[in-house]
Amino acid sequence: MRERQEQYPQLEVDLGKLQENLAALRERCQVSGIKLSGIVKGFCALPEAAKVYDRAGLDSIGSSRLEQLRTLRQAGIRTPLMMIRIPMLSEVDELVKWADISLQSEISVLRATDEAAARAGVRHKVILMVDLGDLREGFWDREELISAALEVEQKLENLDLLGVGTNLGCYGSVQATPEKMEELIAAAEAVEAAIGRRLEVISGGASSSVHMVLDGTMPSRINHLRVGELLLLGRVWGCDMPELHKDVFTLRAEVIEVKIKPSHPVGELSVDAFGRTRTYVDRGHRRRALLAMGRVDYGECEDLVSREPGLIMLGASSDHTLVDVQNTVRDIQVGDILEFDLCYATMVYLTHSESVHLVFREETTSE
Ligand SMILES: *Cc1c(COP(=O)(O)O)cnc(C)c1O
Repeated sequence: MRERQEQYPQLEVDLGKLQENLAALRERCQVSGIKLSGIVKGFCALPEAAKVYDRAGLDSIGSSRLEQLRTLRQAGIRTPLMMIRIPMLSEVDELVKWADISLQSEISVLRATDEAAARAGVRHKVILMVDLGDLREGFWDREELISAALEVEQKLENLDLLGVGTNLGCYGSVQATPEKMEELIAAAEAVEAAIGRRLEVISGGASSSVHMVLDGTMPSRINHLRVGELLLLGRVWGCDMPELHKDVFTLRAEVIEVKIKPSHPVGELSVDAFGRTRTYVDRGHRRRALLAMGRVDYGECEDLVSREPGLIMLGASSDHTLVDVQNTVRDIQVGDILEFDLCYATMVYLTHSESVHLVFREETTSE
């Protein structure tokens, strides 16, 4: 069988651009005394890309899935690893094996983590999460937070209480603001008063908190952020850092059919491949192309951003994507390759899909 040079769908990761994004954000944060945890769950913690984080000299590398941290450790990553989803009781033995730090919000899990650390003969650092209204993870009740902090500090001998943190803008769409950061600092200071020492880390959130670093409104006691999306896509809602590359990732798909067809389906309509009732606009006969990739690979086709001027996204089923190429500048033919930019969700799906071929563009070592 003939060796194929290029295989599609293909996801290219430009490691040089990723490295430059990391360096640029790290520098901006350093000026404000903020340490960075690089969150790698957005690209399934692919070791080739995670190694760029390892070399960037970050405070830690984090993921929401323990198996990804295990992969990183086994790939030789030396930066401390942080588990950023509240650990399951059933995984604490694995947790202390693969993660150096974890975000925590349940006293039962903290106690189990302490016992697991004792069994493994290791020390494990914890950051207690405070829910400031986004209503995902974190202590809601201040007294419960303080009593957990006291127990970690005084009784759970294999745990180190590293600090407190919060997460915003995930479930509740609550914005990260200087006021929310002050609330977090107040919680941290209540913990400090109870345990009688200063906390090393106050972790003020994710990409959605970076805007305060850029505009100088981040309260000075916030000294840690956990950033994923912004480093990968160069912008997030409410925060565009002009110096960051927006095209670290490129998705390429191959055209398998090009024909002029009606734009409105012909026959009695029921539901689409995913059981949804859809509406179709009749724009007459149009030139359309079929791509060999589908929702199994990337999720929702509306989240793909074509780099082909004039292309219109029509829809998709599991393994096919349909685009209108009537007005594209280029005359699209069978065998052509179309390029797309990604959003966060498509990046997560694509890096988890076994049908997507990964290509890494190497870092430039000179300069
Ligand atoms: C996913 C996640 C992050 C990173 O979020 P981004 O928006 O990608 O920066 C940080 N902290 C926690 C707890 C997370 O789950």
